[in-house]
Amino acid sequence: MKRRKFIKVGCSCLFISYFFSTSFASSNTPKKIINKSLSEKQKNIMFNEGTERRFSSPLNYEKRKGFYHCANCDAKLFKSDNKYDSGTGWPSFTEALPGAFKTKIDYSFGMKRTEYHCANCGAHHGHVFDDGPGKNGKRYCNNGLCLIFKPSD
Ligand SMILES: [Zn+2]
Repeated sequence: MKRRKFIKVGCSCLFISYFFSTSFASSNTPKKIINKSLSEKQKNIMFNEGTERRFSSPLNYEKRKGFYHCANCDAKLFKSDNKYDSGTGWPSFTEALPGAFKTKIDYSFGMKRTEYHCANCGAHHGHVFDDGPGKNGKRYCNNGLCLIFKPSD
């Protein structure tokens, strides 16, 4: 009787440890450099969670129709229809394409912010805030150096 109980407890412990190891592994996308021609500035932002200077990106002024891709792995991240001028000095979007990003809470600089990174390659792109003008209230504040714009025509 006692022995059977011991086996049962042992099995559920194994199950719990398996569950935790797999769920932690999937929440953390491994970062990998795919585009070998990334500049030092791009690498610093994408793999060191750096930030570009405000109003430094030409993409702030991009108004054509098309898609914004990851500068590292080329994954499609944003649609031009969801881009807007937030006045912050960084390309801003009200929503990302489904499954494009994963998020984590960032406590750097004494602030609690939600960092987001490419779901495909793990490269850091920016922070998402709850003060956007769209229906879901989101503002994706993206470093322009992490994006490549591809016009649709
Ligand atoms: Zn990527």
